[in-house]
Amino acid sequence: MTMRIDRKRLEMTIEELGSIGATARGGLTRLALSDEDKRGRDWMVARMREAGLRVTVDRMGNIFGERAGAAALPPVLMGSHVDSVPTGGRYDGQLGVLCALEAIRSLDDHRIATRHPVGVVIFTNEEGARFQPAMIASGVMAGKIALEDAYNARDKDGIRLVDELERIGYLGPEPCVARPLRGYLELHIEQGPFLEEEKLSVGVVEGIVAISWSRLTIHGVQDHAGPTPMRIRHDALVAAANVVAGVRGTARTLGGDVVATVGNLTVSPNIVNAIPGRVTLSIDIRDPKIETLEKARGILDRVVRDACEREGVRYELEHYWQVPDTPFAPDVIAAVERAATAVGARWRRILSGAGHDAQYMAAIAPTGMIFVPSRDGRSHCEEEFTAIEDIEDGANTLFLAALDLAGRA
Ligand SMILES: [Zn+2]
Repeated sequence: MTMRIDRKRLEMTIEELGSIGATARGGLTRLALSDEDKRGRDWMVARMREAGLRVTVDRMGNIFGERAGAAALPPVLMGSHVDSVPTGGRYDGQLGVLCALEAIRSLDDHRIATRHPVGVVIFTNEEGARFQPAMIASGVMAGKIALEDAYNARDKDGIRLVDELERIGYLGPEPCVARPLRGYLELHIEQGPFLEEEKLSVGVVEGIVAISWSRLTIHGVQDHAGPTPMRIRHDALVAAANVVAGVRGTARTLGGDVVATVGNLTVSPNIVNAIPGRVTLSIDIRDPKIETLEKARGILDRVVRDACEREGVRYELEHYWQVPDTPFAPDVIAAVERAATAVGARWRRILSGAGHDAQYMAAIAPTGMIFVPSRDGRSHCEEEFTAIEDIEDGANTLFLAALDLAGRA
């Protein structure tokens, strides 16, 4: 009989933390560094102290709770985030933090001493819903984002991140820098349909896909919607519409796992009776291999050129951000596989299509992730849901994988 986490206790914490910032329809609005975020953090810190963890906060407001090991060795960290998108769900992020806490409580239940310390980490502003970029605090920790730049990130009301950190009492004294870690483990909802479709309870995550972001600005000729005949129009939105269809066509042409999305469109002047003079749109392309993104951008360049030539409009296309695919550490992946097998989870290897703090952590620590299924593949919405049976398999996998990496004393 393998050791188990306490499912009832875990379920209770999901209820309790989920009630902070709860929406009427069962979701969650807990934007980073808001009053709700402060209450969620305070609740977590209280639970971490109850569990006897040594709690520290760094200069980015990342919260750490550490359970001592038998030797002065680098710790195994488990964690995720507790901020949410507006009207998001109660599983994204939270579940990783709560399962980490549950794993530590379970070490205590079973009176297990570990060689390496084992800890929980809660990263600030993972979602990027309030302050951009997303994953800002793990980015600072990994040395990929300057602390100054992170501090000066502003929300839509012009409020600086550092001022909000101070206001809610989470501008900590510890430096936000990389330090030696035995490993970083993050349990997270899949946010896609694969595990559910295949009736699996756990995904052993091998890495995170490569991501490319582009921005297209189309300059047409703004004019009156009435007296301007169709034959002399240069409509920026018509060109944009062909680009939107072309972006999907690009993914279809390439096939495989590539996904491409136009998610943001700004139309100017955006009124009923004027021909759109300017459109700005975003293009997000993802694939397990960075070479595919380069190919996709090549096709996209032609799609945009053709669409704009046909409409007789000018454009600027910038490919302004790209992250390569992030493979996780083979020894951590292997530990997660052993754990998933030991708990009897129905599992397979999987790639993450979404960014996570684990992406930055992989640059500074042996890193792995554990996915649990998302009902209908949905997330970032109030309908987000994962069955407790699957959460239990995931939490047990996290528990045993962390113990595997930390080693028994
Ligand atoms: Zn998340």
